[in-house]
Formats: sequence, structure tokens, C-alpha cells
Amino acid sequence: MSETESTRRGILYVVGIGPGAKDHCTPAALAAIADAELVVGYNTYIALVRHLLDGKEIVRSGMTEEIGRARAAVERARDGGKVALISSGDAGVYGMAGLVFEVLRTMNWKRDDSPELRIVPGITAISSCASLLGAPLTHDFCAISLSDLLTPWPVIARRIEAAAYGDFVIGLYNPASGRRTRQIVEAQKIIAGYREGSTPVGLVKSGYRSIQNVVLTDLDHFLEYEIGMLTTVLIGSSNTFCFEGYMVTPRGYTNKYTWDGRVLPGQRPARSLVLEPEPATTEESR
Ligand code: SAH
Repeated sequence: MSETESTRRGILYVVGIGPGAKDHCTPAALAAIADAELVVGYNTYIALVRHLLDGKEIVRSGMTEEIGRARAAVERARDGGKVALISSGDAGVYGMAGLVFEVLRTMNWKRDDSPELRIVPGITAISSCASLLGAPLTHDFCAISLSDLLTPWPVIARRIEAAAYGDFVIGLYNPASGRRTRQIVEAQKIIAGYREGSTPVGLVKSGYRSIQNVVLTDLDHFLEYEIGMLTTVLIGSSNTFCFEGYMVTPRGYTNKYTWDGRVLPGQRPARSLVLEPEPATTEESR
């Protein structure tokens, strides 16, 4: 290796490419991929950005080879290369970003060392899928992955129960795969202990890809539909409602205001919501 090569500080882009469609990949993600000499990613994601990869070196591998992929990307960038490690959605949401830091930690890497890290955000599945369903995330929500490949099931079950008890809208990533079908059934059972059977449930398969499929159903019936590796499941809170085939969780404006913009009796704008307002009789309350 020549002097310049050995001293060149590499760049490692960790890039979320969004749900799939070109238009939902950010200009920053496109620029990162354009700048990279080497692009590393899971086969399906490489296929989604193939049109951007002319003349670049590509390392792709199957789903279970994440550690190898992350190490290959980090090592090439450490040695002076410009590398883009790509994940679907956002690389920091059930993606490769965390693993990159774990690899760097084992290498005793410091912030000023090679490679320079550039983490590029993307539209994560819970957001892209929500947009196809309407507005299910306008109030508190959480994301839970049902994959027990790296997390013990009792831990996942406890989180589902806590989310159900807390009345969060729940986004389930990795709900099922060919071999893994039990978890979503268990999740339904746990959540049904806290919510009505009529609670809206949205299923989005392959959102913003050519085989996109969107279903709006409810807690009692959603298991009757196909749910697989490419599905995100969104389970409403006790306030979520359906309207014209959309799934909507209200932000709460009507707890305080009337439709013609007046403040409800006993409430005050820009102040905490009053739980049991006194019946209003004064000027101020109009
Ligand atoms: N980093 C990704 C998530 C990877 S985990 C992100 O931020 O979106 C993989 C899971 O993400 C899938 O099992 C599915 O639940 C969800 N997912 C990813 N892309 C999706 C899409 N286009 N449509 C629906 N769900 C998707």
C-alpha cells in the first residue's frame, strides 16, 4: 500500500434507503451512495438501488450474514475506502447502525480515527406504512420487533404487555416469517387482554414497493390475513378510529377546542388539559 493510501481517512456511510420506492430515498442517501466506491448490503436492498450502482464494487449477502457484512464495510473504510453500508428504511431502526458501532468498539476505534462515520437517516417502515394507512401515529406510539432470533421471547412479550397497558399505538416490525408464525398470535392474545376487539389494525406489506398491499381490519380479525417478513402491523390505541378506509389516532384537539375555534368550558389555551372542568358560566370560558 502506498503512503497516500495508507494515510487516507476512509468514509463509512451508514445509509437508510427508505421503504423501497426511488422517490422515498432522500437526496442525502443518494449522494452517499453516489460517493461510495463500495456498496455493501443485503441482496434485496442492493436490488432496490441497483440503478445507482453502475461502476461500483458491490458486496451483498444473505440475511444471516450481518456481522460479516458490517466487518467488511468497516475494514474497507478503515483502510481508506469510501463505503456505503445500506439498510432499508432507517439504518438505525432495527438496521445495521448499531452493529457498526459494536464492530468499531472491538477495534478500539476513536472518533478521529479512520473511518469517518456519516450516518444518513431514512424513512423507517413505521412512518412509511403509517402514511399508507392514514394518520395512526398522531399520538404516542411505540415500535416492537417480534423477532426472537436475537431477543428472548419473554422479554418481547413483556414489552408488548407494557405497551398494551400503556395504551400506545403499537407498530410491530418483523411480525412473522416462513418459520416464525407463533409470535404474532401470542402478541394478539396479549393485546386483546387490554383492548376492544374492534380496535383498528392496519397491515402493510411491501409498502412503496411494486407488490404493496394495505389492509385495514381490527384486533379480532387481523390474524385472518397474510402476515409475513415484509409486513408491518399497526395496532391502534383505545382512541384510534377508522374513517373512509383510513386509520386515525386523534391528537386530542377536541378535548380542548370546539370546531369553530373556541376553547371548551373550563379549559384554557396553552395550559394543561383540565380533567373535569367546572361547568362554564364566565366570559373567559367562551
Ligand atoms: N431498518 C428497517 C427495518 C428493518 S426490520 C426500517 O427502518 O424500516 C424488517 C422489518 O421492517 C420487516 O419485517 C417489516 O416489518 C418492516 N419493513 C421494512 N420495509 C417495509 C416495507 N417496505 N413495507 C412494510 N414493512 C416493512
